[in-house]
Amino acid sequence: MKRTLLIISSCILLSGCSEMDALVKKIPILKDKINSESRPQQQDNQATGTKDPGEPASQTNDGPVLEAAYFNEIAVEGGRKEIQNPDNFLVLVNKEFSLPVEYRPDDMVKPDIPFSFGEQDLEKSLIREEAARAIEAMFRQAKEENIEIYAVSGFRSYDRQNDLFDAEVRKVGVDSATQAVALPGQSEHQTGLTMDIAAKSTDLNLTEEFGETIEGKWLAANAHKFGFILRYPKGKESITQYQYEPWHFRYVGVEAATTMYENNWTLEEFFQQVKKI
Ligand SMILES: [Zn+2]
Repeated sequence: MKRTLLIISSCILLSGCSEMDALVKKIPILKDKINSESRPQQQDNQATGTKDPGEPASQTNDGPVLEAAYFNEIAVEGGRKEIQNPDNFLVLVNKEFSLPVEYRPDDMVKPDIPFSFGEQDLEKSLIREEAARAIEAMFRQAKEENIEIYAVSGFRSYDRQNDLFDAEVRKVGVDSATQAVALPGQSEHQTGLTMDIAAKSTDLNLTEEFGETIEGKWLAANAHKFGFILRYPKGKESITQYQYEPWHFRYVGVEAATTMYENNWTLEEFFQQVKKI
């Protein structure tokens, strides 16, 4: 409900709202191209040197804008920057911003897609409902194009991440563990918006070679059409603080995903570029 209201309020800022409906999907990022096309009135004003009083200057030709509700709200808890609005579909979880310990989305379902572990009922098969519908559509399209992919790991609770991290520390020590495994609260898998995806061509393993397979390439080129981004791309390691992970896909909605894909932005860069309104 809240998100619907946000979209309506975005439309109010623009003329030709009905035309915008098809373009402004679930997440109301309004690209400057859309803004200028739907605001001929303002361009006329600029041409004649007149200016609408009260016209927000930030609305013109300055790149994408985004409602403030889609930015992290942060509180510092015991030295950690903890996200206060973790249900936000654009939530930015990384080595700087953590999810609350107890956070678990309450709208998770098991999507109807093939899993690497077959029919077993495991917590890691869960993903939030909107992301589940989107990933089902993506897998359907892949199948139509003879791309055979398998979901490997979706939701992961704080406690499960804690166990994984502890196990890695015992194996390789704290320093190496921190580079390879997310600290509990800092894993995107806790958002319920992430799925690791693999293919038989790499024995269903989560490995860098997946990026060179036809399945990995198909996902990298098409995921945005379904609202997913390749969250940890090659060459962006210093920004994401994670190694290249061609298997890790994060749901952000079609419009945000397409904006990031077209601009070659990570989620971190996206938030540096979009203007808060
Ligand atoms: Zn992952």
